[in-house]
Amino acid sequence: MLLNGKTAFITGAASGIGREIANLYVRQGANVVIADLNLDAARQAADEIAAAGGQALGVGVDVSDEAQVDAAVQASAEHFGGIDILVSNAGIQIVHPVQDFSYADWRKMISIHLDGAFLTTRACMKYMIAGGKGGSIIYMGSVHSKEASKLKAPYVAAKHGLIGLCKVVAKEGAEYNIRANVICPGFVRTPLVDKQIPEQALALGISEADVVKKVMLKETVDGEFTTADDVAQVALMFASFPTKALTGQSMVVSHGWSMQ
Ligand code: NAD
Repeated sequence: MLLNGKTAFITGAASGIGREIANLYVRQGANVVIADLNLDAARQAADEIAAAGGQALGVGVDVSDEAQVDAAVQASAEHFGGIDILVSNAGIQIVHPVQDFSYADWRKMISIHLDGAFLTTRACMKYMIAGGKGGSIIYMGSVHSKEASKLKAPYVAAKHGLIGLCKVVAKEGAEYNIRANVICPGFVRTPLVDKQIPEQALALGISEADVVKKVMLKETVDGEFTTADDVAQVALMFASFPTKALTGQSMVVSHGWSMQ
C-alpha cells in the first residue's frame, strides 16, 4: 500500500488513462477524486470504486474554467481533509494542418491542456502548502512533449509547455516538499486515440490500418501500443517516490518511440 491515506485529485479520470490511474491509486490505499467534464461518468466511476470497497468522489469540472476548478478542489479537499496528489490529466485532441486550424480550436486546445494544468496546480498547491505535508504533482504530457507530428500544432505546443510549467513548480514547490513531474506516454488505445484514427486517415489520405502501423507505432521498437496500466505504474512511482531526488523530470513511456 504505497498511497495509504493519501488523497489524489485526478482530472479526466472518468475515462482512459485517468481512470486507470484512479483504479491503481485506490488499490494502493488512496482516496481519489474523479474530476471530469462528464459529471455522470465521474459519478459512475466513483460509484464503481466505492462498490469495490474504495474511497472515491465524483466531481464535475471543466479544467479550463477558473471558478469551477477552484470550487471542485475546495469541495474535494473539504470532503477528504486535504489534497496530497494532483494528476493533471484531462485532455482532448483536435487535428488539422496549421493553415486550416481555426483560432477557436487552437484556443480550446491550449486552454484545456495548459490553462487546465496551471489552474489545477494553483488550486491544489494551496491545500498542499496549508496541509504542511508536501505533495506530488503529475502532469500528463505525451511523447508530443518531446517530439512533433503533423496535424497537431496546439497539442504539441501545449504538451511541450507542460514541461516548462513542471520545472517551475518543481523549483517553487521544493520549500513546501512538493514535487512535480511529467509523464510522456506513447499511443494508448483510449477513446481519444480511437477517434483520431479515422480523422488522420482522412487528413493524410491513407487507410486506418496504415495510420496505426505507419504513423502511430512506426517509431516504436516493437510495434506495440503503450497500455493505460503502463502509464498508471509510472504515475504510481511519481506519486509515491519518497524524496525530492525525483522532481522536475519528464519520463517517456512509449515502447521506445521517443528516447529523449
Ligand atoms: P480519454 O478521452 O479517454 O479521457 C479524457 C477525459 O478527459 C475524458 O473523461 C473527458 O471527459 C475529460 N475531459 C476532456 N475535457 C475536459 C475538461 N475541459 N475538463 C475536465 N475533463 C475533461 O483520453 P486519454 O487518452 O485517457 O487521455 C488522457 C490524457 O493523456 C490527455 O491529456 C492526453 O493528451 C494524454 N495522452 C494520451 C495518449 C493516448 O495515446 N491516449 C498519449 C499521450 C498522452
